[in-house]
Amino acid sequence: MKVWIEHEYCTGDGLCEELCPAVFEMRDDGLAHVRVDRHATVDGEPGAFLVSGELESDVLDAQAQCAGECIYVKL
Ligand code: SF4
Repeated sequence: MKVWIEHEYCTGDGLCEELCPAVFEMRDDGLAHVRVDRHATVDGEPGAFLVSGELESDVLDAQAQCAGECIYVKL
């Protein structure tokens, strides 16, 4: 699964980090970002990251509850 965040719509509430901290993190800019480590790697598409399969349901849960509706996934 690919995941990315459209940052201009992020409210900064941090819910995605609470629901799926392995993939999402809040940074000093007050916005959520995809955490790039062993769970998410940079894909060819700028700003999009590949997420390992065991985290897909947590990512989809975060997407469903995102207040800014700014978490995007491509299966
Ligand atoms: S849940 Fe959505 S709006 Fe909230 S911090 Fe995460 S990306 Fe931003």
